Amino acid sequence: MSPEPHASDASGWDVIVVGAGSAGAAVAVQTARIGLRTLVLDKHPLDRAGATWVNGVHGQAFDEAGLARPTAPELRAAGHRFHLVAGWGPTTKAVSDTGVLDIDMRLLIARLQHEARLAGAELRGQESVLALGPGIVTTATATLRAALVVDASGLGGLYRVQKPRPGDVCAAAQGVYAVTDRPAAEAFFRSFGAEPGETLCFAAVAGGYSIASMRMEGDELAILTGTLPALGHPAGKKVRDDLAARHTWIGPMAFGGHAPIPLHRPRKDLAFGDDDGALVRVGDAAGLVYAAHGSGIGAQLVAGRMLADALSAHGLRPGLRSGLGRAVRAWERAWHRRFGARFLVADAFRRLSTRLTPEVLAWVLRSGLMPEPLLRVGFTAGL
Ligand SMILES: Cc1cc2nc3c(=O)[nH]c(=O)nc-3n(C[C@H](O)[C@H](O)[C@H](O)COP(=O)(O)OP(=O)(O)OC[C@H]3O[C@@H](n4cnc5c(N)ncnc54)[C@H](O)[C@@H]3O)c2cc1C
Repeated sequence: MSPEPHASDASGWDVIVVGAGSAGAAVAVQTARIGLRTLVLDKHPLDRAGATWVNGVHGQAFDEAGLARPTAPELRAAGHRFHLVAGWGPTTKAVSDTGVLDIDMRLLIARLQHEARLAGAELRGQESVLALGPGIVTTATATLRAALVVDASGLGGLYRVQKPRPGDVCAAAQGVYAVTDRPAAEAFFRSFGAEPGETLCFAAVAGGYSIASMRMEGDELAILTGTLPALGHPAGKKVRDDLAARHTWIGPMAFGGHAPIPLHRPRKDLAFGDDDGALVRVGDAAGLVYAAHGSGIGAQLVAGRMLADALSAHGLRPGLRSGLGRAVRAWERAWHRRFGARFLVADAFRRLSTRLTPEVLAWVLRSGLMPEPLLRVGFTAGL
């Protein structure tokens, strides 16, 4: 039976999550696991929710979130050396043991959605949310109520919308391409001292902070680019497409995508409301992105687990609202204690790095000012 227009929902959800991408699905897994009646809504069909490309995520994030580490085909690569290249070369600096796993986000999000369902959550795609607030969500057809609403709707969020300023937006793109001439591809990687399967990350290629990174996965090549158009850089998609067109050994793109990433400091206010109805925001909706390299997934996975821990610690059980306001504020404090200072430092580094030219970066790499252990910290500090 289809719902009446603007029907009021009396089913009494404990949690309604808006957004079934990585941040929303990760929260839903955790709240459903502690027995809270959880509903997830996404405006897209569920298999198109969230990121549709390959992301690097530190393996430790899965351990901390109580999620199984990915395996193939979700896991595309792990344990490879990372070569930072100043501009298009020749100066390079290698880092091993970064702990980063390269993950097909389409499959990770499908897994999180599946685990949420197994734990009892209900997920609905093609359900657009028009407005939300503490304890309340309005769609085109109904007003839904829940003890806790989670805004996981991506860039800028739906609650007290705070779109990032143009200078705080990274235009990123990623794509997985066929390799049509493997010997030529291997020769390219070896010309920078990298083995096939290792990452070449060309930095400052369009100006400070921009990158173009390449890694072979069997007979495929993953390209990731990111730029700051507000500084006059071409968009990440153009850098990716130009790079793919420049090398004759790169064939057609199998899948990928492009989107803006918020790089500002995380929002101070992550939790709102009280025992009568609360709201938290997570993921890109709250700018929970480690700005040094525009990575959000690891901290998002952990944020979901921390939220469930805070709700449990305050005795939140299905239908019970007493303590909800204190629980979400405890989560907000815990998140800022765990990640806040690191994310602030990452944002300061991001601002400084906008001044790096390839020449200055080459000098820094040659000078020893960036030893391997320091570079390695850059991969783990987002957790
Ligand atoms: C090319 C690229 C490469 C990246 N690489 C990395 C990386 O290597 N490592 C890393 O950690 N991060 C990376 N990031 C960042 C990372 O992808 C994002 O931080 C992450 O995808 C954000 O997840 P999210 O769930 O917060 O938001 P989103 O993925 O944007 O999901 C939000 C969901 O909310 C839904 N929604 C929006 N509005 C409504 C509405 N009104 N009603 C209902 N549903 C709604 C959307 O349909 C969407 O499914 C990259 C980003 C890009 C673009």
